[in-house]
Amino acid sequence: MKQALILIFVMALIAGCKNNEDLDINLKYDENLSLEYDQVIDAYQQLARHYPQAKFIEMGKTDIGKPLHLFMISKNKDFDPASIKRKGKCIIMIINGIHPGEPEGTDASIQFAWDILRNKDEMQKYLDNSVIAIIPVYNIGGALDRSRYYRMNQDGPIYKGRRRNAKNMDLNRDFAKQETKNAQTFAKTFTYLNPDVFIDTHTTNGSDHQYTITLIATMHNKLDREMGLFFKEKMLPDLYKGMTDNSEYDMIPYVMTFNRGDIKSGLITYNDLPLYSTGYTSLFNCYSFMTENLVYKYFPDRVRSVVDFFTQVIDFTSNNAAEIRALKEKADEAVKSQEIFPIEWKLDDSQNEYLVFNGYEYSYIETPITGRRKGFYDHDKPWTDTIPYYTTYKPVTTVARPYAYIIPQAWEEIALKLMNNGVIAYQLKEDAMLEVESYYIDDVTRSQRATQGHYLNNSIKVHKTVQAIQYYKGDYIIKVNQHSNRFIVEMLEPHAPSSYFAWNFFDSILEAHDFYSVWGFESHFLELLDQDENLRTEFDQKKMDDHDFANDPVAQLQYLYQKAPVSEIEKWNRLYPVSRLAKEIELSLY
Ligand SMILES: [Zn+2]
Repeated sequence: MKQALILIFVMALIAGCKNNEDLDINLKYDENLSLEYDQVIDAYQQLARHYPQAKFIEMGKTDIGKPLHLFMISKNKDFDPASIKRKGKCIIMIINGIHPGEPEGTDASIQFAWDILRNKDEMQKYLDNSVIAIIPVYNIGGALDRSRYYRMNQDGPIYKGRRRNAKNMDLNRDFAKQETKNAQTFAKTFTYLNPDVFIDTHTTNGSDHQYTITLIATMHNKLDREMGLFFKEKMLPDLYKGMTDNSEYDMIPYVMTFNRGDIKSGLITYNDLPLYSTGYTSLFNCYSFMTENLVYKYFPDRVRSVVDFFTQVIDFTSNNAAEIRALKEKADEAVKSQEIFPIEWKLDDSQNEYLVFNGYEYSYIETPITGRRKGFYDHDKPWTDTIPYYTTYKPVTTVARPYAYIIPQAWEEIALKLMNNGVIAYQLKEDAMLEVESYYIDDVTRSQRATQGHYLNNSIKVHKTVQAIQYYKGDYIIKVNQHSNRFIVEMLEPHAPSSYFAWNFFDSILEAHDFYSVWGFESHFLELLDQDENLRTEFDQKKMDDHDFANDPVAQLQYLYQKAPVSEIEKWNRLYPVSRLAKEIELSLY
């Protein structure tokens, strides 16, 4: 009996299995089908039961009520991010199904996870230096609603999910403001993992060309300087080369053209603002990618190309784990005392590289139904050419680091949102009059079209003044000495493009405050002029010098209003409520 038990134990060890349950995972991408949501979850549950290196965890709620799952693969069953990092291992985070009509990553991730766990092509070796964390499906609400009529121009799978989530939000615009439970749970998960590498999987339409897979890599200029260099000089070239050498799917940067629609004018790196997944994750010193498969390519090929990309990423990450870890640790530390924060970027079109691109000629036909002239990419006329490639961005707006931001508790929602992203917040223990830098909103344009239920504020013009403001016990103090510094600044500086102000969280401050009429102050102004000799002289002089002014009673009253003590009530007008404490001061906090 004892020998039999030992034999079973040894056999289990050889198989590397937790139990002997036969796996019953039927990936169907070869049949142009993507697994349904329940089948996806079942597949991961089976893998987690079968293999000791796997764990399937519920991370929190999503808008549809179902939990957001995380599937982790780690050697020696170590699933604790802090302990994983102490061992010098990198964490690669993958997220799928933000847009469930673009599901290649969903199926590719199961294939990839399974391949590693069963040690296909000795892939287990990657686990010596890397840990994988997969969000199987992010937009669960959208994934549960499938139709063959979603994304009609896409070559498979037959049934596709809906783009928007249960709250009708596009989750790939919700990474900064986080108004969905999906985004809130994602932020907690991302903060918990603090991964080294992040991959988000998508499908794109637009111009047709010969590539099955394209890649958005976060702007290298936006990363910590040394990380950015490593990314641009080493990681990206290796990944593109790896796809050329080891995959049948050559990869090209995402086709974002220099001149709209004209591929030969060149490609540019995408300006990934923090509202997008890669823009958000890269704020935390993470190498962030978005795969964008081309809709016109057949689904099984798209899935295989993503599996190959995952493999290239884990191969590179494992081979360079020590350098990746060291650079990130250094950057995570350096950002805590970073002094200047760029909040707005512009493409530098004065410098570019070149890349070889395989495209199709653009031609025109007459359509059979309406007879209209229609453009199309002619697959019978392929072309190969060397085109410019622009990857350099310059900061156009920067801000200096304050010691801290102060968020009055009336805006507690903002403090809580920050805290959900790992930001540490303190609160004032007692009331305090503090000298702060405050912003006034001088001008703002409201977008005409709704985005995510918002009419975004853009072209935001501000000016800054120093003044004393009364704060109260319980108001929030956000010190800018944190790993999340860049997120804090991007969200709290009102003129940053993905800020809470841009997303309308502070719009009430743009409305009229205490109403006044300058006519009502006329007798008060007379008193003021009687008491203030200098002001009377100034006022009389201005009337003599300025003919229009002399004939405009409203302008005269406005002028006196601005000079009168009564104008102090103006200090609330378009005052952005989050202030900056420029220098460190003694505060009693809890
Ligand atoms: Zn997408």
